[in-house]
Amino acid sequence: MAKTTLKYLKERSEKKVVGLHQTIASKALQLVEMAYNKGYYIAITQGLRTFPEQDALYAQGRTKPGKVVTNAKGGQSIHNYGFAFDFAVFDENQNPVWTGNTYNKVGALGKQLGLEWGGDWKNFKDLPHFEYTFALTLKQLQAGKRPPGSAVIGTVPNSNNYLDKGDQGTLVKGLQGKLQALEFNIGSTGIDGFFGAATEKAVKEFQKKHGLKVDGIVGTATQSKIDAEYKKLSEKPTDKTKWRLVTGTFQNAEQLANAIKRLKKDHGWLTYEKAESLDPNPTYRIMTGFFIGKDVAEKAAAELRKDYGWTVYVKEA
Ligand SMILES: [Zn+2]
Repeated sequence: MAKTTLKYLKERSEKKVVGLHQTIASKALQLVEMAYNKGYYIAITQGLRTFPEQDALYAQGRTKPGKVVTNAKGGQSIHNYGFAFDFAVFDENQNPVWTGNTYNKVGALGKQLGLEWGGDWKNFKDLPHFEYTFALTLKQLQAGKRPPGSAVIGTVPNSNNYLDKGDQGTLVKGLQGKLQALEFNIGSTGIDGFFGAATEKAVKEFQKKHGLKVDGIVGTATQSKIDAEYKKLSEKPTDKTKWRLVTGTFQNAEQLANAIKRLKKDHGWLTYEKAESLDPNPTYRIMTGFFIGKDVAEKAAAELRKDYGWTVYVKEA
């Protein structure tokens, strides 16, 4: 019979903290070690649960066979947001132990780490459960609120083969990065690895724009369209002609200098000052270096018009 070693418990646990917020993931692993040093063999058996996983769990004992194990549907559990984990106690031969006082002992240890223990709950005691939500309520989490610096661990094992609201991890980050590059608004927290309301909205807008079913779920069709659109961005333009941007006029040399500074800082483009005439009151414009491809130049011009409110012309060079 295999012996229960700390290495065994840690390896088992490390797989389960994938997708958890970094702070709670490290507390979970710390707890495994603390408990082991006190002679309690525990491993993390559940961390992040995606919304579909939660729904499946909810169905158990209701519309599916088995015993009821949760009162939470998808989105109603702290697990769905990566701020909760469950542990199990093992004997020295790697067999799980479901009874005994060890759960209470480990509960006390976890509280030393600042974790909230399910065993302290009044209505429904959940002895193997810990959570740490940075004082955010479930309601706030549901509304998309997240603690600052919401780094998540590793990739979410994507057993569902799709991404949707409530998912988190590297796959979500990849999705958000592409949507942002394609100029869809993924929300104020940016590429944070959380598929919240803003990411869902961006997905729906993408789907609408490309004639896909607007359901906010990134399945095969939506994913391949996103990938294709994203790939287009990095492809060389078919149009090899050279274009420049020329701005409208600036009032004086000082305004011109400030505008050039701003362009350099935001875009790093090569710029030229363009004095229109040799008369005592010349008009000042900025001319950029070359853009290869008219669509590229047009895109840059549109950006300046939008961000700076300038008049910008696209001229063949
Ligand atoms: Zn739990």
